[in-house]
Amino acid sequence: MKPVTEADIRASIVNASRGEIERMPFPGLHEVMWDSREYLGWRDPQAPQRGYLVHWVGDRPVGVMLRASEVALRHGITAMCSLCRTPQPSDQVTLFSAARAGQAGRDGNTVGTYICDDLACSIIIRILPPAHPMQPTPEEIVATRATNLLERVTAFTAGVLKTA
Ligand SMILES: [Zn+2]
Repeated sequence: MKPVTEADIRASIVNASRGEIERMPFPGLHEVMWDSREYLGWRDPQAPQRGYLVHWVGDRPVGVMLRASEVALRHGITAMCSLCRTPQPSDQVTLFSAARAGQAGRDGNTVGTYICDDLACSIIIRILPPAHPMQPTPEEIVATRATNLLERVTAFTAGVLKTA
């Protein structure tokens, strides 16, 4: 993804109040490997239920504030992140909800989805699968995962933005 600045992120959040945006924490943006990211996601170390996700839609960054469910998935089962579709242990996937943008969100409407608990799908999809002569190369598999991840993130935030 193209890099985003703190000012970009503040301006991008579509479903938080001005006060919430002023209080939001930022990850170490200078450490982000932008070329290996479809979206930027991070948790709030001071508020464990809070998370944030930002990605580009054309030339505009779109960001959403997320709330992690306090109810954990059943332990010991396999769960799947709905954005990167990586199956993994259930404690690494969390149900997040996002208030809808605008009045709908202020009225309590939310969109929920299961996402990697650390909001770092871009890292997990880059774990190369073993090469197999009958399958696309590991690099092609990662490129396809990246395209699909970006599509699903875009669909998720489009759902948050849809106010009707
Ligand atoms: Zn994921």
